Amino acid sequence: MRRNVLNKQINDWTIWLEVLELIKKRVTRAVYNAWLEPITKCNIDCDTNIMYVGAGEGMVNDVLARRYKELIEQCAEQVLNEPYRVIIETDMEPTEETPATDSEITYELESEDKQIEYKDGLLSKYTFENFISGKGNQLAYGVAKATAEHPSLTYNPLFIYSESGLGKTHLLHAIGNEVSKAKSKKNVLYVSSEEFTQEFINAIGVKDNKALREFKRKYRKIDVLLIDDIQFLEGKEATQEEFFHTFNDLYNNNKQVVIASDRAPGNLDRLQDRLTSRFQWNMVVDIEAPDYETRVAILNSKARQMKVEMDEPAEKAMKMIAGHIKNNVRELEGALTRLTGFSTILNKKITPELVRETLTDILEPEEKIVTSKDIKEAVCRKFNVKVKDLDSAKRSKDIVVPRHIAMYLCREIIEMSFEMIGREFGNRNHTTVITACDKLKKKLQNDKELEALVFELINEL
Ligand code: ADP
Ligand code: MG
Repeated sequence: MRRNVLNKQINDWTIWLEVLELIKKRVTRAVYNAWLEPITKCNIDCDTNIMYVGAGEGMVNDVLARRYKELIEQCAEQVLNEPYRVIIETDMEPTEETPATDSEITYELESEDKQIEYKDGLLSKYTFENFISGKGNQLAYGVAKATAEHPSLTYNPLFIYSESGLGKTHLLHAIGNEVSKAKSKKNVLYVSSEEFTQEFINAIGVKDNKALREFKRKYRKIDVLLIDDIQFLEGKEATQEEFFHTFNDLYNNNKQVVIASDRAPGNLDRLQDRLTSRFQWNMVVDIEAPDYETRVAILNSKARQMKVEMDEPAEKAMKMIAGHIKNNVRELEGALTRLTGFSTILNKKITPELVRETLTDILEPEEKIVTSKDIKEAVCRKFNVKVKDLDSAKRSKDIVVPRHIAMYLCREIIEMSFEMIGREFGNRNHTTVITACDKLKKKLQNDKELEALVFELINEL
């Protein structure tokens, strides 16, 4: 019986994640982050066709009920193939005067269709403090930090590009938040190109020039403009024209402009050349996918933020996820959110077993690929030794170290049992393997160079 209840909760939550995916495509990132992402529960009643959702937070529920109920209903219908009524459930007493966490939110509730307005567009959750810098993003991080510390003086314009989910938006907000903290009282604005376009279209849609003047005034007042997803302007000639003037005005007045894009300036084919050439006037920096070490650090940091108890099994679970999701931090985070969700629902601790049980989709393709043979071969390549030496009885140092590393990786990455490892390495006793793994683990704690080498190997696998 209890199992059934759990199954239903997992099922409902999985359906909710699908609904959320659809919702994501229909709202701006800011709206998604502020109101939809915080939803923590979903309960589906198939008999009455009602979906109960809630964020457990008074203000969010309030906004959900007023603004996004219909959208959720539309997306739910798409997933469930039947109309569903959505009820926003409040399970907590609203606290008196819940303060907005993103201090600048000035949303108005009186008119249903009025867009939520952000004064400076900044999300306080994206800071330099919680951005993990490592191989792949180090340069972008450093340059962003310097820009935040000395706007207009170091890198102007700053152009950051990368594939999706690697931290561009995070860095843009981090710059904004850092500048806002400073005493200098600079006007900061974070805006996506989509919002910029929309605002511009709205402004020119009004007959008299007042709205357009207002629009121009707003953008010329900014000291630090953070404009995201510039690729959205491709093909939009009038908006590009307007942005060109905005850029020039700001730049000529020594104001900072930071641009994020999914491609290098030279590859933004449908942007005017005069724009892409300006983007290359100063610093162009890309973010590459983080290496294994950084992925583990990101997961550990996010897990701590989510108040996950980080014991050894939980750390192993993080390593397992980091070993499988390689190219997208958003997906890393998504896997962690799902895992913690399942952990709460199933009331089970976070362990590699729970990962295997619940995140099958991320594990399957990879697990078939890495074998002990792959590990042995990769280690041998690195140390320039022969695979048969690893299995032999030889005990010289140049063989023992790679052997121990290979054993350790078989244990850590593909979780082979000590017995199995022993068998595969020249029929050694499992206690020998345990000792070898322990020794290596200790060594790794004190030998940074060896640790880096092991991380490199993991990345190559
Ligand atoms: P992009 O704008 O490049 O598509 P985002 O900035 O939206 O990517 O990042 C996606 C998610 O991953 C965000 O939640 C962000 O906080 C997180 N993230 C990306 N890189 C890092 C990092 N180095 N450290 C911590 N979190 C990161
Ligand atoms: Mg982004």
